[in-house]
Amino acid sequence: MSRISQSLLYEELRSIVGEENVVESEQEQVAHSMNCNWYTRQLWMDDEAIPVPAVGVYPHTTEHVSQIVAFAHREGIPVTPFGMGSSGMGGNVPEYGGILVDLKRMKDIVDVNEESLTATVQPGIGNWEYEDYLNERGFTSGHLPASHYSATVGGMLALRSAGRLSTAYGKIEDMILGMEVVLPTGEVVKTKPVPAHAAGPDLDQLFVGSEGAFGIITEATLKIHHFPDERRFRAILFPDFESGYTAMRKIVQKGLTPALARLYNEEETARTFKETWGVEKEGAYVILSWDGPEPVVDAKERSALEICTAEGGEDMGADRGREWWENKYADYYPNEDSVQNYQALRGGHSDGMAGTVTTSVPYDKAEEAYQAMETAFEEKFGDEYTAWIHAHFSHWYNSGTMFYSRWHIRDIPADTDMLKLYNEVWSTLVPISLEYDGVVDHHHGTGRLLGRFLRKQDEGSHDVLANIKESIDPKNIMNPGVMGLGGH
Ligand SMILES: Cc1cc2nc3c(=O)[nH]c(=O)nc-3n(C[C@H](O)[C@H](O)[C@H](O)COP(=O)(O)OP(=O)(O)OC[C@H]3O[C@@H](n4cnc5c(N)ncnc54)[C@H](O)[C@@H]3O)c2cc1C
Repeated sequence: MSRISQSLLYEELRSIVGEENVVESEQEQVAHSMNCNWYTRQLWMDDEAIPVPAVGVYPHTTEHVSQIVAFAHREGIPVTPFGMGSSGMGGNVPEYGGILVDLKRMKDIVDVNEESLTATVQPGIGNWEYEDYLNERGFTSGHLPASHYSATVGGMLALRSAGRLSTAYGKIEDMILGMEVVLPTGEVVKTKPVPAHAAGPDLDQLFVGSEGAFGIITEATLKIHHFPDERRFRAILFPDFESGYTAMRKIVQKGLTPALARLYNEEETARTFKETWGVEKEGAYVILSWDGPEPVVDAKERSALEICTAEGGEDMGADRGREWWENKYADYYPNEDSVQNYQALRGGHSDGMAGTVTTSVPYDKAEEAYQAMETAFEEKFGDEYTAWIHAHFSHWYNSGTMFYSRWHIRDIPADTDMLKLYNEVWSTLVPISLEYDGVVDHHHGTGRLLGRFLRKQDEGSHDVLANIKESIDPKNIMNPGVMGLGGH
């Protein structure tokens, strides 16, 4: 972009949001690109140019967003919506420059309706701010992802996020009741926050998960819950992964709905026991919790424990489960003593790479899919590098489950083409999920990294997405390139 057009761009945006809400410094623009993506961090470490926006802008109101987007539409300028930048899939990277719309200054709680149990918020509110506000009033959203302290409500809606208690409370798409969205032409749509309807397709579900490509979410009304009278934890050690998996499936399918439900594979179990409690243990470890009135929790826990015992599970008591819950953010957020954790948050260590495949698969295929992924990863990368992969299963449904495979590669020779290797890992793992009737992703979105696989996920559906995109964003200005929808 020429200096003259850059200066006109600043001028136009200053006239909409005021000078103090337009980011002109190079450092701040780089900061917007240096988010949780391994890819931008790697470019930076290799002294290569990272994609930066021509300008960053902080709107405060829906009207601001609408005017910014209408202007961008008129001029054909790409727009990247931005929450807190904690998505690792690159959808928040301003790949095509243009205007980066940072929503963090739109963070009001508009309304909490204590009778209908709904909360209406602006998109830039941090999840911890939202949850703290509700907790102080005796409520909870039920949505507590590991990115609690690094994600906005808008960003989580845009990616169909899942919290740790999703087995009982659902994913964020199950919580949404109504939305306000600025379309790629600048017009505003607003849906009614009703509990259910049969008045045409559910437009909310078109925007939830659309990764900023169909518009900018400027307000959302979500379900909330009374804070549970009782939250109870339990830890169980099963003889092996298969017995743990069978017990979890039966517990969920019998309607004994745990809130927290995490099953670790054998490697993760051994590591957790050794690192956390200094004990050598074999088997597959499960942490469960139930929320609700005490008699209901009692009954669900009792019946679930019977199922666990029948599958050979050893009751490890409540404390180990509660301890996990109380430390659930410790690994993710750095403190003064844990610079290593900071590296982990950024997606890996300085001498390697890491990533996470999250997928959901029907019960009859999930075990096989997860084994196939581990085998393929080890066969392909295990000989050449120090490479390992481990998994846990932590979101359970009536018909299937989600597994979270975290992979790491270390000791990579200096002359390696890092981006090529990185893409190779995803190209090895994601097709295995599709092969076993799974999806490209369960709760991180596809961004720029995994969008290329979407076309292969469902028969014909990617064409429908592309047609919708073309009709609501004819100039392809809204976050071009995410969800495999083609960039500039
Ligand atoms: C340590 C760590 C732990 C994590 N744990 C979890 C977890 O447990 N569960 C989980 O689901 N995810 C998790 N994530 C992933 C990530 O936090 C989530 O995907 C989250 O939804 C990103 O929110 P954000 O505000 O940072 O959005 P960003 O990363 O800024 O943006 C994400 C995408 O949403 C778009 N977008 C942002 N705001 C809007 C808006 N208002 N309207 C339209 N589009 C918008 C962006 O353009 C981009 O495509 C984790 C990430 C990290 C780093």
